[in-house]
Amino acid sequence: MAEVKAAPKYPIESGCPDGMQYLHPTMLKNFGNWKYHDRPRPGVLHHVAHSGDEIWTVRVGTQRQLGPYEINLLCDIIDKYADGFVRFSIRSNLEVSVTEETKVEPLIKAFTDAGYPVGGTGNSVTMISHTQGWLHCDIPGTDASGVVKAMMDELHKEFISEQMPNRVHITTSCCQINCGGQGDIAINIQHTKPPKINHDLVANVCERPSVVARCPVAAIRPAIVNGKPSLEVDEKKCICCGACFPPCPPMQINDPDHSKLAVWVGGKHSNARSKPMFHKLVAAGIPNNPPRWPEATKVVLNILETYKKDAKDWERIGDWIERIGWPRFFELTELPFTKYHIDNWHGARNSLNASTHIRF
Ligand code: SF4
Ligand code: SF4
Repeated sequence: MAEVKAAPKYPIESGCPDGMQYLHPTMLKNFGNWKYHDRPRPGVLHHVAHSGDEIWTVRVGTQRQLGPYEINLLCDIIDKYADGFVRFSIRSNLEVSVTEETKVEPLIKAFTDAGYPVGGTGNSVTMISHTQGWLHCDIPGTDASGVVKAMMDELHKEFISEQMPNRVHITTSCCQINCGGQGDIAINIQHTKPPKINHDLVANVCERPSVVARCPVAAIRPAIVNGKPSLEVDEKKCICCGACFPPCPPMQINDPDHSKLAVWVGGKHSNARSKPMFHKLVAAGIPNNPPRWPEATKVVLNILETYKKDAKDWERIGDWIERIGWPRFFELTELPFTKYHIDNWHGARNSLNASTHIRF
């Protein structure tokens, strides 16, 4: 009997489609073959190719969480005033390209009249990047997109102009595990108390060994509570990171009073002029106060104004602070420097993301 070989199994690719197929044809034609680019005005990029082709790209701020009404409105503008091609930048800005310079101003007017600002290029405060939040994720402690909308309303002037010493990249993150990375300024959730366990649910909902393994400081132990298998937390060890909540929602750590916001400053992914930098905590315990988050916005505006006044041209926020020093930063911004700014926890060196117990 002939040997029957099993057909090889291939993974079903269901990720993002290849973006090249959606590029403007002029971009595709000249891909990797550009001579130079400049910015005729804030919010407009102009690229010239070696072939002689030119293309203008208008960058537009959005509220990111777009509903069908907004998508239709924007697509109608793009079809009518541009060439029908659009892409989203990593910060949820729209980028719409045209090959005729005469189309640029009518396109800008159409977006502006519809309430969508044009800007976010060069030394502006570009759109705040934010993590998925309640729309796609099961562990947020706040509404990151709401914080972004409230703050960008206050930063509109800085989005449509290029008056900062260098570009400013702000990020938000809705849990402390933080898939949002870090930025020149980052607004991140801050848990301030250990999780409260709903023991009735643990046995049915959680895989206890996974939860125990997830804790970076080994603060969780299996326990029998009211005759049922459950968990207990050593609150002296707990660093209130929230890592146990995703695998075990009954370990409730979010709380309207104790979930706060914290502002971190000076982070940078790129190494354009200096090497990448980690951001550092500058303001903690800020009320998580929807729908406009005025306290957090005040801190961010204060930092931006101080940076704008005091930094030299082309210094990113981290470069500026490195030059003047952190004590001077706190003097200039008048942010209080408290004992909470110092990581004096005895086990910090061996925990945090250095632990092999963290498995994402
Ligand atoms: S920051 Fe945390 S809660 Fe927000 S989307 Fe990322 S993993 Fe989810
Ligand atoms: S995972 Fe984090 S929040 Fe949960 S018990 Fe451990 S240290 Fe505390």
